[in-house]
Amino acid sequence: MVQVIEWVNPGEDEIIWRYPNEVIKWGAQLIVHEYEVAVFMRDGKVYDVFGPGRHTLTTQNLPLLYKLVGGSNSPFKATVIFVSMKEFQGRYGGETQTRELAPIKYYGVYWFKVADPVQFITEVVGGQSLYDTQDVTKFIRAYFNEGMMKHLSSYSIVDLFQNLDMVSTQVKVKLMEDFRRLGLELVDVKIEGVNTTDEWRQRLFWLMQTGNAQAVMQMDTVKQVAAELGKSGSASVGTGMVLIPQLMQPAPPAQPAQPAQPYAGGGVPPAQAAQPATPTQPAAQQEICPYCGKPIPPGARFCPYCGHEIKRCPNGHIVPEGAKFCPVCGAKIE
Ligand SMILES: [Zn+2]
Ligand SMILES: [Zn+2]
Repeated sequence: MVQVIEWVNPGEDEIIWRYPNEVIKWGAQLIVHEYEVAVFMRDGKVYDVFGPGRHTLTTQNLPLLYKLVGGSNSPFKATVIFVSMKEFQGRYGGETQTRELAPIKYYGVYWFKVADPVQFITEVVGGQSLYDTQDVTKFIRAYFNEGMMKHLSSYSIVDLFQNLDMVSTQVKVKLMEDFRRLGLELVDVKIEGVNTTDEWRQRLFWLMQTGNAQAVMQMDTVKQVAAELGKSGSASVGTGMVLIPQLMQPAPPAQPAQPAQPYAGGGVPPAQAAQPATPTQPAAQQEICPYCGKPIPPGARFCPYCGHEIKRCPNGHIVPEGAKFCPVCGAKIE
């Protein structure tokens, strides 16, 4: 009986399949379907490669293996791996820290396919000894996630929340390079969401409202202010009212550059801290969504970009979620 080597009915998300029999006879029929490649390997090393078609295995079309088995016509040992060249989708999600050590969570989708089957088999399948789809898929996801964590952590939290499009594009380029090393093509990456803790969202809120990164990143003050505002009672509001207008002032433009000061987040201060606030744009004029950083129409109740509800005081100032009093005018929030 003629030996037939064929990947029968591969599943939607199957990326590789190992032919279970490692003893191959000369004259065997090798059937390789469209969008597949069959790779012959031995001891983790790739020998001969077949594209789509029906192949009768002879000493001519397996020259490298034939040489290896010493020119014998008796059955020989080889591992046959089928590789799907189709596009696959994977989901990712994880946690890391930004440059200023703000904790962030992120998630999204990526699409990839095998670009160089020999390199893929060498690096992933043979190199990691992963011979089934589940293990390979898990490895690729972990590899993607590791890269994502590494690349995201080189950005500041402001970049992540205000310039996510730019960050996505740059991170994608870096991940594409990472994937090329595995013989994979990363077709596309979508960051669907980035989130941080309540405390850091508050910092971002102040940052986006005031544009004064240095003051905001010295969080201890802002945190206290926010805490004061959260309390009811007129005494604490009085304290808050003294502190906050100072925070709302943009840094005087004439101020000489100061050496970087330590701030609550630790690590390297974000690049924005060194820049003076733009003097031509007072905080009150341009309204910015505190959740996604995009400009919103004056008086908007919901951000047209991220859909988040914009909380306002009776006088129309944007206020942080959960605040009991407006940080700008002190009005009580119902
Ligand atoms: Zn928004
Ligand atoms: Zn107000």
